[in-house]
Amino acid sequence: MNGWSDQLRSELAQLEADGLRRQLHPAERHGRIIRRAGRDLVNLGGNDYLGFAEHPRLKDAAIAAIRDHGVGGTASRLVAGNLPLHEQLEARFAAFKHHEAALFCPCGYTANLAVVTTLAGKGDVIYVDKLAHASLLDAAQASGAVTRVFPHLNYERLDRLMERHTDANPAGGSPGPVRRRFIVTDSVFSMDGDVADLPRLCGLARRHDAALIVDEAHATGVLGPTGAGLAELQGVADRIDVTVSTAGKALGGLGGIITAGRQVIDSLVTQARPFIYTTAVPPAQVAAVSAALDLLVSDPQPRLRLAELSACVRDRLQELDLPTVATTTPTPIIPLITGSSEAALDLSRHLEAEGFYVPAIRPPTVARGSSRARLSLRADLTDEDIDRLCLAIGHWRGAGRREGG
Ligand code: PMP
Repeated sequence: MNGWSDQLRSELAQLEADGLRRQLHPAERHGRIIRRAGRDLVNLGGNDYLGFAEHPRLKDAAIAAIRDHGVGGTASRLVAGNLPLHEQLEARFAAFKHHEAALFCPCGYTANLAVVTTLAGKGDVIYVDKLAHASLLDAAQASGAVTRVFPHLNYERLDRLMERHTDANPAGGSPGPVRRRFIVTDSVFSMDGDVADLPRLCGLARRHDAALIVDEAHATGVLGPTGAGLAELQGVADRIDVTVSTAGKALGGLGGIITAGRQVIDSLVTQARPFIYTTAVPPAQVAAVSAALDLLVSDPQPRLRLAELSACVRDRLQELDLPTVATTTPTPIIPLITGSSEAALDLSRHLEAEGFYVPAIRPPTVARGSSRARLSLRADLTDEDIDRLCLAIGHWRGAGRREGG
């Protein structure tokens, strides 16, 4: 066996044997219900936290934009793709996030890639939380900077790491003095649902003369008095150097929005390859995000309901004594830690039999031994859904199937 396709086949076979092969399954979604393999299940596997993805106001805005401007982005923003719609949304989004300026990219992944690979490069050091999103870790690696991963939420270790790297004592692998430093983190962590301490990180960034880059993918639209995110909730929105939001989760659409000072945004427009060499976000998506911002202001109810559910489900799980991840701020992401992949799959199948879609999350997405079934709550879940869900989890727990399936 030597050809590349034979090697690929054997790698896939090995992944399959290890229970780690991923597969796509067709699904239809209607509000909080997802239809999989012919069965209607309550959907606890998506990020449409507020139910905006099918909201009539977003649909109407997208349809009107298609009528007025067509379906395509047509070209890179810098060539012939820039519309007043893009600029209006960016001005609104910057104000929403308490920043000076904004830049709308095709998705959160490319937005993170754009930010990190443009601002950081050879001679720089990026300090990144171990559980930061894959797109941030990929971006750090692609940037050419030295990357130092600090243990999850361990800011003392981060402080010591940054202390150690000075001009006279550069980070390993970089030949000269440290040029620039960056601290990179999620605000709400996508697999654990816990949150960063952003005031503390702002302090560390200032102390070590570093820039702070925060991915607010799971917080934008969800946390904070106006839904602007964790930075707003923790009172430091104007102290974060660069924030990345995604429109693909609570805002119901698609797109990655970078917010920062004018100078950062100008640098990105001039130098960020993931922004420059791609087609502009189509008008319908821009209009949908704008409508989502309107809704956040005019109807805070879904956000409040989501916050209530996030706290209530955590309390109920605590009563069941089920291992999850502690957090200072309840968020809609709640991992049910099973340890082994088999147990995560077993819990996921059990919940499916009880009428809930709860995906099993396994390595390499999470560390070996920390597999889990991950709940992503939505504002439109009913009290009855929650009662039935907790009962079903309790039955699984009671049946003693936690360890090893
Ligand atoms: N950051 C985080 C924390 C995420 O969870 C995701 C999506 N899984 C992204 C970035 C990427 O965003 P998008 O889906 O818009 O590419």
